[in-house]
Amino acid sequence: DINIQGVNKSFGFNKVLDSVDLSVPAGSVCVILGPSGSGKSTLLRCINHLERIDAGTIRVGDELIGYRQEGNRLFELQEYKIARQRTSIGMVFQHFNLFPHWTVLQNLIEAPIRVKRESKAVVMERAHRLLKRVGLAERANAWPRELSGGQQQRVAIARALAMEPDVMLFDEPTSALDPELVGEVLEVMRSLAKSGMTMVVVTHEIGFAREVADQIIFMDGGVIVEAGSAETVLDAPRHSRTKAFLSTVL
Ligand code: ATP
Ligand code: MG
Repeated sequence: DINIQGVNKSFGFNKVLDSVDLSVPAGSVCVILGPSGSGKSTLLRCINHLERIDAGTIRVGDELIGYRQEGNRLFELQEYKIARQRTSIGMVFQHFNLFPHWTVLQNLIEAPIRVKRESKAVVMERAHRLLKRVGLAERANAWPRELSGGQQQRVAIARALAMEPDVMLFDEPTSALDPELVGEVLEVMRSLAKSGMTMVVVTHEIGFAREVADQIIFMDGGVIVEAGSAETVLDAPRHSRTKAFLSTVL
């Protein structure tokens, strides 16, 4: 599970996250909606300590992310310890960022071998299984540039899964894709959700949110304005800002 309590984050005088509390139970899917600049990406980046938070705590499973606690004081962890924590948090971005000089298979196996020091045989077996799972079993030896955007994003998802993370974070994974390629990526995410993965997904795909989300949160101005089930947030929003936002995306 993921547990976020009282998280504040500012860039200079710009308060981007303001007392954010969020709990994502293990095996559940949380979808984050909100207008541009509302702090969605920053919140995701805080979860794996790509951004340093100013206050609050973030826990993923038993791990206090980025810090160790002594009494009620927090001390930032050394970089190698943060790197170890990140191995259990998969992240998929809008721009898939595959390594262009590596084949699909190499993209999947490098991190588990180098960072987790797993054996090549074990990692290869897993990589082929994951490629099959995202529908790309035949493309193991392709170069990223030979794949469509949707295929590249499915490889990026498989690459994140190859580290066997406990949770997966998605930041607008389909926003950069041509419309006809969105469905195949959402389909992979849907099946991942069904398999019990704990997921936090920033997306504007309301249909996906409705179908898959156990919890939807609407952010605006660094604040969680509204949170709840799809039925409550999408169909019966209480806050005028939520209503205004939904009218732009529905
Ligand atoms: P979008 O839908 O456009 O992706 P978002 O909800 O993901 O928006 P963030 O990217 O989290 O929003 O940005 C929230 C605010 O923080 C914005 O005002 C942005 O300009 C600011 N911000 C984000 N990253 C930085 C940074 N590294 N330095 C300074 N300001 C930043
Ligand atoms: Mg963003």
